[in-house]
Amino acid sequence: MATEIRTPFEEQSAAARSARPQVRPRTEGWQQATDGDGRPLLQFASPKRGKPPVHLADMTTEEREAAVVALGLPKFRAKQLATHYFTHYTSDPAKMTDLPAAQREQLVQGMLPPLLTETRRLATDKGDTIKFLWKLHDGALVESVLMRYPGRITLCVSSQAGCGMNCPFCATGQAGLTRNMSTAEIIEQIVRANAAIAAGELGGDPRKGGQDRVDAERVTNIVFMGMGEPLANYKRVMDAVRLMVAPQPSGLGMSARGITVSTVGLVPAMLKLADEGIPLTFALSLHAPDDELRDELIPVNSKWKADEAIDAAHNYYVKTGRRVSIEYALIKDMNDHAWRADLLAEKLNKRGKGWVHVNPIPLNPTPGSVWTSSEVHVQDEFVRRLNAAGIPTTLRDTRGKEIDGACGQLAAAE
Ligand code: SAH
Repeated sequence: MATEIRTPFEEQSAAARSARPQVRPRTEGWQQATDGDGRPLLQFASPKRGKPPVHLADMTTEEREAAVVALGLPKFRAKQLATHYFTHYTSDPAKMTDLPAAQREQLVQGMLPPLLTETRRLATDKGDTIKFLWKLHDGALVESVLMRYPGRITLCVSSQAGCGMNCPFCATGQAGLTRNMSTAEIIEQIVRANAAIAAGELGGDPRKGGQDRVDAERVTNIVFMGMGEPLANYKRVMDAVRLMVAPQPSGLGMSARGITVSTVGLVPAMLKLADEGIPLTFALSLHAPDDELRDELIPVNSKWKADEAIDAAHNYYVKTGRRVSIEYALIKDMNDHAWRADLLAEKLNKRGKGWVHVNPIPLNPTPGSVWTSSEVHVQDEFVRRLNAAGIPTTLRDTRGKEIDGACGQLAAAE
């Protein structure tokens, strides 16, 4: 345990706190959308667009059976269809030889309508990271990023086309919210990734730590860190989560602990999430411990302040026993000052021990942004100070930068 004596933030001299320049998050080269009062626009409601077709993954077991009966088939066919979809990752009638040939097409059309059209795929040189660009039924575009790590495969999924949270350092926020994604559109990203893995399309070494045996592989971890603010599309995201953890063939049979929900800090939804009784991993995108900066960096801070968001993250830990993470994109001379690391540590320690870890990530470049990531020695100092204060802190590995697939770079253009 570190027993270093540190000067509390309040007692530091103004000179010490301002020894490094303070860059303010003003946008240059592009304009941040504003509301009628000139403040950064926040969009919570999904703009009305044609609804995506209803899919088996939007239905409860009973609804699936009723839909199959409505198509003129006995209800046990629903389970067969679900098995094809959630266990074999297919929506291809030609592969469903256990279904009557004459009705296969109709059944698949009615129950497994196409939701995502693959428009482009980019892979890193090693092939262990793939970014998919998907077109939805109405032409809206979203992305997901598939990453192989030793012993696990992570898919970064989108929950909205675009995003209404308007964070100036994130490429997704710059274009605003197109619409919420449906539950099945969220799930389909995983099913399609699993199909790609099964077809041997994800590179990298599938062997686990030196073993020669290669098990059947699929996505093991989900991060809601693609496009969108998951807690602004709460119901569909939670329905998707329930399907991810439901045993096969009703759902994907994944572990809840391997699913991470990341939010910009929608406090009421965070409180609700803590009471769902699902042991998800929770991450708060804090990016600044002080409201003075966070007000400018995270527009939603106008509604829920940094302390309220931290309280709600702490509540998540209290209710679920799951250690939460704090995400912090390190931006040069903006939020990377040593005093901010100390203030963050102070605010986290004030609420208890062992409930949180911090995941700083060097800012990834986005188009039109003049901000850059912190210098390496500044990153190291930021991490060191938090660790010294007893807050476990690890710099996050950033994947897929060369294919614009890293955090904050998803903009989905053709
Ligand atoms: N809306 C959610 C999830 C999507 S973003 C949220 O904000 O948490 C996933 C993570 O990437 C968030 O922590 C987000 O703040 C971070 N991020 C956004 N833009 C980034 C950038 N340019 N560089 C590094 N991280 C970024």
